[in-house]
Amino acid sequence: MSIELKLPLSISRPVIREREYDTIIIGGGPAGITAAIYTARYLLKTLIITKILGGQISYTYVIENYPGFKSIESYKLIGYFEEHVKSYNVPILLDEVIDVKKEDKTFKVYTKNNGVFIGKTVILAVGAEKRKLNVPGEDRFIGKGVSYCTACDAPLFKGKRVIVVGGGDSAVLGALILSRYALKVYLVHRRGRLKAQPIYINRLKEANNIEVIFNDEIVGINGKDKVEWVKLKSGKTINVDGVFVEIGLRPPIEFLKKIGLKLTNEGYVAVNPDQSTNIPGLYAAGDVTNACNNFKQIVTAMAQGAIAAKSCYEYLQRQS
Ligand code: NAP
Repeated sequence: MSIELKLPLSISRPVIREREYDTIIIGGGPAGITAAIYTARYLLKTLIITKILGGQISYTYVIENYPGFKSIESYKLIGYFEEHVKSYNVPILLDEVIDVKKEDKTFKVYTKNNGVFIGKTVILAVGAEKRKLNVPGEDRFIGKGVSYCTACDAPLFKGKRVIVVGGGDSAVLGALILSRYALKVYLVHRRGRLKAQPIYINRLKEANNIEVIFNDEIVGINGKDKVEWVKLKSGKTINVDGVFVEIGLRPPIEFLKKIGLKLTNEGYVAVNPDQSTNIPGLYAAGDVTNACNNFKQIVTAMAQGAIAAKSCYEYLQRQS
């Protein structure tokens, strides 16, 4: 089966002149978009600032667990999200937030390219980014065989041999996507059992070009100008053209270090049931938090976004 991969929408956007908002939402994935729809419905003046639209969904090919759609391509779902939030006239600024400072009762949100915005409340919905393996050769071969986005890069490995690292949903889904293109897919996991959802593990068994290697790890990625082979901890070597690293996520919140945000031991933002953080007026939602039992799904991120929006509204009511 051939898959046509399309990138999320990237249409021209108006310049944003307004500087002061009731709520600034940092992040435009399912949590941020849902939060914006809800804050807009609470009639809060809202701005979304995000590097990309869609968050982790942008790195997926199809979504099969979003109610109402048995299967939907990620770029289409992101397009629907954008259309929906725009129907409430919420501006979306494509930029990177580099710092957030609290001054008295407001937050100053500093962007890389568009200066400073002021919010009475902030919803942090920056999701999470891919973790690296940190083995020799990994950095050297990024873009030359090493990839962190199976859905984006799988078509480049048509008829080739690839290896996927990890044992969770991302790794197993990645191996399944790759199996449609590659000649041979190895899936290497450091434990004796995969932790992905059973429905995905069953599909692995149906694919005839995927070989799962348990209790082993990649310790080195080698080649001349591009990836040619990997070395495993067991001493085995495998010839491959591509290495797909799918070993989980980490929250990208270095820019918030100075504000004193309370984190969990795993580095996620610690939130209360109302999505509040330890900083009054600063809420967090989605993959960046420890909420919903750490079950990182589109629907759980959306639920957190809705709750965070309601909490912002109630907080602002208390302040007035
Ligand atoms: P994950 O669930 O955290 O799994 C990461 C896997 O990588 C684990 O099996 C882990 O091994 C392994 N790992 C971690 N560090 C490693 C290292 N240095 N070397 C080798 N292996 C390493 O991450 P994920 O699969 O990216 O998923 C992240 C979240 O998104 C999860 O909550 C997942 O359910 C969700 N997600 C959902 C869907 C879906 O529902 N369709 C799709 C993708 C992701 P150990 O088992 O030893 O820790």
